[in-house]
Amino acid sequence: MSTNIDNKLYTLKYSTDTESHLKITDKEKCRLCTSKNCTYICPAKVYEWNPDSQEIIINFENCLECGACRIACEKKVIDWQYPKGTKGVTFKQG
Ligand code: SF4
Ligand code: SF4
Repeated sequence: MSTNIDNKLYTLKYSTDTESHLKITDKEKCRLCTSKNCTYICPAKVYEWNPDSQEIIINFENCLECGACRIACEKKVIDWQYPKGTKGVTFKQG
């Protein structure tokens, strides 16, 4: 059986919040960011660069709460909170 990330994602259960727990605090810094690290580091492909609007789109519903984007963002503009209460991802056993 394959153990790639796509298969792992099938073992997760989400309870989506209506409000994003991930926010960009300064969109201008994203425009100036040359690495766009967030679009590569996230295992759930939460961040997408939109060349038309020149901003990062955040698909926060898919977040696995791993925290990697906070570390990877070169300009430290990701405001990252744990989802409220029972919202967010649940890691199932087995
Ligand atoms: S790595 Fe940080 S600054 Fe760069 S595009 Fe992503 S969120 Fe914006
Ligand atoms: S916490 Fe992890 S899964 Fe969530 S957006 Fe950041 S890198 Fe992606």
